[in-house]
Amino acid sequence: MNNETMIIIGAGAAGLMSAIVNAKAGKSVTLLEQNSKIGKKILVSGNGKCNIDNKYIQLNRFHSQNPQFVEEVLKGYDFEVIEKFFTSLGMELVEGKEGKMFPMSLQASSVVELLEYEAKRVGVQIVCDCAVTSIDKKGDTFNVETSQGTKTSSQLVLASGSPAAPHLGGSNSGYAFATKMGHSLIPRHPSLVQLCSDEEWVKSCAGVKVAGLAKLYANGEYITEKKGDLLFTNYGISGLAILDLSREVSIRLANFDYCELSLDLMPHISKEKLTNLLQSRVQKESEKPIELWLQGVMHKKLIGIILEQSKSRVEAERELNRKEINKLVHAIKNLKLSISDTKGFKGAEVSTGGIDTAEVNPHTMESKRVPNLYFAGEILDVDGDRGGFNFHFAWVTGLRTALG
Ligand SMILES: Cc1cc2nc3c(=O)[nH]c(=O)nc-3n(C[C@H](O)[C@H](O)[C@H](O)COP(=O)(O)OP(=O)(O)OC[C@H]3O[C@@H](n4cnc5c(N)ncnc54)[C@H](O)[C@@H]3O)c2cc1C
Repeated sequence: MNNETMIIIGAGAAGLMSAIVNAKAGKSVTLLEQNSKIGKKILVSGNGKCNIDNKYIQLNRFHSQNPQFVEEVLKGYDFEVIEKFFTSLGMELVEGKEGKMFPMSLQASSVVELLEYEAKRVGVQIVCDCAVTSIDKKGDTFNVETSQGTKTSSQLVLASGSPAAPHLGGSNSGYAFATKMGHSLIPRHPSLVQLCSDEEWVKSCAGVKVAGLAKLYANGEYITEKKGDLLFTNYGISGLAILDLSREVSIRLANFDYCELSLDLMPHISKEKLTNLLQSRVQKESEKPIELWLQGVMHKKLIGIILEQSKSRVEAERELNRKEINKLVHAIKNLKLSISDTKGFKGAEVSTGGIDTAEVNPHTMESKRVPNLYFAGEILDVDGDRGGFNFHFAWVTGLRTALG
């Protein structure tokens, strides 16, 4: 045992990992958590199955104002390193779609329980219901004010996460502690979040889910596109493709840009094929109402919207001409939805921005401003794509806090 004492603020993925490896290195570690239980975000992740990591760690799956920092942090710390750590705890991992990794139990609770067992086994003192209210450094000592009194240590790790999902412990408090000690912040925005729309029609489609493609335009300029589920809701739109786009939307809305989605409700059928399909059906049974033709290929609730956007007449008893079919096809493949807002941090899985990584050593996570102050996890200005990348960054940065 060395004489180092370490306080870690936040018992999420990063804090738990940091606690285990630092205690293993012989430090006396106290892990403070404001919630009554540790690892609340781990418990809900991956719909309760915990998408613990991703097999294919690539730099382009992470976002930061300082990509060089991310590269340095991840160098030599790919998925296999994390897999080895979990295997050493007795946990086997299984692969899902797109390299997503899960505990073989498919239970997030097993991840938290094994981490807690290991932390206690190596001597970490875990204190729950302990909210840190302020931090002060006098000489070589950190004085940490908490709801359970003052605690002191020679080293401090800020692993208090981001404001995303406040009901699970998301908070800004770590930013406040860090800025008070001289650190800078990169602007934060909700990411992996649902999007709101003021358009009335979307409410009438609430509950409809399609496998589509969403293209994002900001002030009329094409930004990016994502394929996957589109789920219409009474506030706007959600679904995996939307969560994947939301980072870009959030940043652009904050910049007062006008954001609009163009939704392809049938990305698996080309424009030409769809046109030919409708044309041949119309030729066979010209008297059939348009609505019935469309019911053969799409959800009923979307048909009125498509007809409205394509300005096609709903009346039956007439033949659709080529021009009208083209308009219909265009509306099906380019349904417009203006976006007014996101669901904010309450609905977000992560936050963009955070502690400016230019002020942090990428090998040890130690502050370049305050000796013996460390950062780990989402508090830093790094966020990842959906698919286990956020946990990967939390595990790796937690591991690195013991390398100093
Ligand atoms: C619903 C949801 C699902 C997700 N699913 C996935 C997924 O499947 N895969 C993936 O990779 N990522 C997922 N994420 C993102 C992932 O959970 C986070 O990126 C990750 O948990 C960040 O870990 P962290 O340790 O940095 O922060 P956190 O897990 O947020 O932990 C920080 C801890 O600090 C505590 N804390 C904060 N302030 C204080 C204070 N003042 N005093 C004491 N304690 C404090 C908080 O209560 C919290 O427990 C999901 C997030 C959410 C919200």
